[in-house]
Amino acid sequence: MIEQMDAPLAPLTTLRLGGPARRLVTAETDAEVVATVRAADRAGEPLLVIGGGSNLVISDAGFPGTVLRIATTGFTLDGALLELAAGEVWSDAVARTVDAGLAGIEFLAGIPGSAGATPVQNVGAYGQEVAETITEVVAFDRLLDETVTLAGSDCAFSYRHSRFKADPDRYVVLRVRFRLADEGGLSSPVKYAEVARSLGVEAEQRVKLAEAHAEVLRLRAGKGMVLDPADHDTWSAGSFFTNPVLTDAQFADFTAKVGELKAPGYPAGEGRTKTSAAWLIDNAGFRKGHGAGPATLSTKHTLALTNRGSATTEDLLALAREVRDGVRAAFGVDLVNEPVMVGVSL
Ligand SMILES: Cc1cc2nc3c(=O)[nH]c(=O)nc-3n(C[C@H](O)[C@H](O)[C@H](O)COP(=O)(O)OP(=O)(O)OC[C@H]3O[C@@H](n4cnc5c(N)ncnc54)[C@H](O)[C@@H]3O)c2cc1C
Repeated sequence: MIEQMDAPLAPLTTLRLGGPARRLVTAETDAEVVATVRAADRAGEPLLVIGGGSNLVISDAGFPGTVLRIATTGFTLDGALLELAAGEVWSDAVARTVDAGLAGIEFLAGIPGSAGATPVQNVGAYGQEVAETITEVVAFDRLLDETVTLAGSDCAFSYRHSRFKADPDRYVVLRVRFRLADEGGLSSPVKYAEVARSLGVEAEQRVKLAEAHAEVLRLRAGKGMVLDPADHDTWSAGSFFTNPVLTDAQFADFTAKVGELKAPGYPAGEGRTKTSAAWLIDNAGFRKGHGAGPATLSTKHTLALTNRGSATTEDLLALAREVRDGVRAAFGVDLVNEPVMVGVSL
């Protein structure tokens, strides 16, 4: 276990933003994680758990308590059953399952961050999300003061949400278990039109696992969605806004406002339609690269807000508010941030 006082947090986030932690603890075993959480809770000390810092917007003032960085390791395959320690690097774990010939998380290639954070917002991309393969999450329950095992079906997974996100001060994820599938070297069915097109197949077809993995990485890199320290378009928290899910009445209002333009709409369960945040931002007049200051929209992807090198968290939030307010004025739709805000709000 490593402990530092007054530790800068910006280098631990992909946005490279945020002030210092009063105390930073890096834990390398589950026992160290649990001991740190228990000690902070008993002392009434504010606690912030971080993995890869790829979905966090931390205040310029920093964090006035203990920041626990989870750096545990453990990758175990038993047939098609995978167990990952929370600190495992997600994209490396995905690559290893593809090498092992297993399907189930191959379209989630290149997503930054730790395995332990994947259930928190039910990480998803290109037609796949972890809710489909997670069987169990082992977590320290701060309310019960004990380690619990939650079945995937008890995690209340929905679009970029879960019981962990709904109750952020309760669970610290220690291990995540997945059921993958041996499809004879083939991928899960291709769900996402853009991936199917670029692979030259029909939707629902399977392709070679390695091909699916490589194609997703190629598509993501083209949008600045694979970390590259030399490329400021990747100094982001990924998509900054979730795709709005509208009720039938809200969608009808919205399409009336849109008029001539054709707004995207995808079924999102009974009486609900999901539309595209990127489309809203673009059509409200915020183009790729928008912004004159040190925080701008990515030049490769409208949905990513980026730090060009010298931004502060306040610069980033000013840009986020400008975009949110512009979309509300143009279309009457409220955009909601995807990254977790620490000590700040939109
Ligand atoms: C370039 C880029 C592309 C991205 N693309 C995608 C994408 O395609 N799809 C997608 O879903 N997301 C995407 N993201 C967002 C992000 O990568 C994911 O949300 C990721 O799972 C966050 O992992 P992390 O370890 O970095 O979490 P952190 O940013 O460190 O933490 C995020 C939240 O999870 C909590 N947390 C972290 N670890 C634990 C734990 N062990 N137990 C309990 N709580 C924990 C934190 O307290 C915080 O609330 C992208 C981000 C970037 C920068």
